[in-house]
Amino acid sequence: MHYNLEDFYTVKKIDAHVHINGHFTSFMNQARRDQFYLLSINTEVPGYPVLAKQQSHIHQLSKDFQGQVGYLTSFSTEHLHSDNWEEKALAYLKASFEQSAAGMKVWKNIGMTLQDNNGKFIMIDDPLFDPIFDFVEDNNITVLGHIGEPKNCWLPLEEMTVNNDRNYYKEHPEYHMYLHPQYPTYEELIQSRDNLLVKRPGLKYIGAHLGSMEWCIDEVAKRLEKFPNMAVDLTDRICHLQYQSITNWQKVYDFFVRYQDRIIYGTDLEPQTNLAPQEVMNRAHEVWMMDWQYFATNETMSTPAVNGSFAGLNLPKEVIDKIYYSNAKSWYQLKIDF
Ligand SMILES: [Zn+2]
Repeated sequence: MHYNLEDFYTVKKIDAHVHINGHFTSFMNQARRDQFYLLSINTEVPGYPVLAKQQSHIHQLSKDFQGQVGYLTSFSTEHLHSDNWEEKALAYLKASFEQSAAGMKVWKNIGMTLQDNNGKFIMIDDPLFDPIFDFVEDNNITVLGHIGEPKNCWLPLEEMTVNNDRNYYKEHPEYHMYLHPQYPTYEELIQSRDNLLVKRPGLKYIGAHLGSMEWCIDEVAKRLEKFPNMAVDLTDRICHLQYQSITNWQKVYDFFVRYQDRIIYGTDLEPQTNLAPQEVMNRAHEVWMMDWQYFATNETMSTPAVNGSFAGLNLPKEVIDKIYYSNAKSWYQLKIDF
């Protein structure tokens, strides 16, 4: 049994990876209309409000849109080298979990920005983070990890697989790691994440953005086989699956069927104050609808990110229900009646 395009409007879904950093009524209304519960991911991104502010935005939104939005907390790495960093980080996390945070995010500044006093990059498997991981593991809290970047980031522009990466790194050479060999390599970053999971087999870990292995689902599959407590979210990397669908549709389909309990839908949608409310709504709807078309139908599609057309995966209903709803609910232990 399969869903069709119109079923989008009636099937309950979770977008398990958005960033809502303000009182975006329009965005919340569109989510309600499109049957989405939202999980907003607090992240220490330069340019975002500080973590406590991000958290208070979500607390306010949860009051105004009850049962429609939850969040993941994070910890500040700002004073990493100060004596009481760990104590402060743990106190902040504990307070967040008492206030209904559904998990903890770690971000790519770990591995790519933070350095020790000798200028060495601090990786996610650094013992410095042990108290944090001990705490979340002891309390059975799920970690969402964005470690590394798409592999394209380490390739020359002409070798990149998808156009959105190519355009982004063309405009932001400062983030294009191919040009900055003094930073950790792609392989070192993936290895640091794998080391963490080897060291902590009990840790419930969701690899954001297909665990930064978006370029090859075999690589994702290897990790899912090796680490039973690992899942992945699809956030902002669906075009890489579409790219792989062009040459091997069946393989992508089989990946979803085989790992149907460990794949979580997310978009990275981030409503912006510089857009008119209607534009925020249109954009969200368009992204959600395109993704639904790809996963649920067998229609031939194309997107600006990918050169060439590809067919929708036409996944069985029960697989769609898992990746769009029950996996997020169980992996993050969401207490929702949505
Ligand atoms: Zn994100």
